[in-house]
Amino acid sequence: MRTVFIAGNWKMHKTRREAAALADALVKALSGEKKKIMLAPPFTALAAVAERLSGSGILLGAQNCAPEEQGAHTGEVSVLMLKDVGVRVVILGHSERRHIYREWDELINKKLRLAVQQGLEVVLCVGETQAEREQGVTNKVVGQQVHSGLAGVSEEQLAGVTIAYEPVWAIGTGKTATPSDADEVHRFIRSLLAEKYSSGAGERMVIQYGGSVKPGNAAELMAMPNIDGFLVGGASLAAESFVPIVQFDKGA
Ligand code: PEP
Repeated sequence: MRTVFIAGNWKMHKTRREAAALADALVKALSGEKKKIMLAPPFTALAAVAERLSGSGILLGAQNCAPEEQGAHTGEVSVLMLKDVGVRVVILGHSERRHIYREWDELINKKLRLAVQQGLEVVLCVGETQAEREQGVTNKVVGQQVHSGLAGVSEEQLAGVTIAYEPVWAIGTGKTATPSDADEVHRFIRSLLAEKYSSGAGERMVIQYGGSVKPGNAAELMAMPNIDGFLVGGASLAAESFVPIVQFDKGA
């Protein structure tokens, strides 16, 4: 049985005060919720949000990390610093990192291995662009991102990895993959993991969907057998939209 895992990626939004206020509202609304929940504020608000989440069971996430532990890497933030501030999960390979900041598979894999070795959980994002979907190469692209992202990761270490399937054309656009289209890619990812590791590894992997998830479409997506949760961008920025997504099973 896979644990439902719902994560909010606040991207480059919210001052410390705004982030603390949202964290307070979410802790209040979601206390007692059994699902796994993670909030990823910007780096500057991590400490403020860590304080608010303390004892709540909601995990603190970061949106990226450096591929090295420390050294001359101007502008980067190390996993050691993230752990120091209370981060438990790091999002890697987000499409905005891949496409705007030109991060490539080997770099993402280096970050992932370092994070896992350091005991952080990782949400590895994968997904095709609109052009790739139209060319019919979705599985090829997603397969390459999964294989490269997990290179050198053992089956044991895989327990600390969640995969987020986020079709690039659905992120922040209001377009959502149909539940069955998303489920098909999730099923494909499970089959890749079964081939690369074992059928158990494929079955156990928690695979989130991301791309314009809203209170109104969360339940139908979650009804699919291979969708285990969400990575939510825009709708995670307000308690009014994030709480009903987390509570998709209570009716939107
Ligand atoms: C995301 O940034 O991971 C995301 C899925 O964004 P949105 O929910 O806004 O599409």
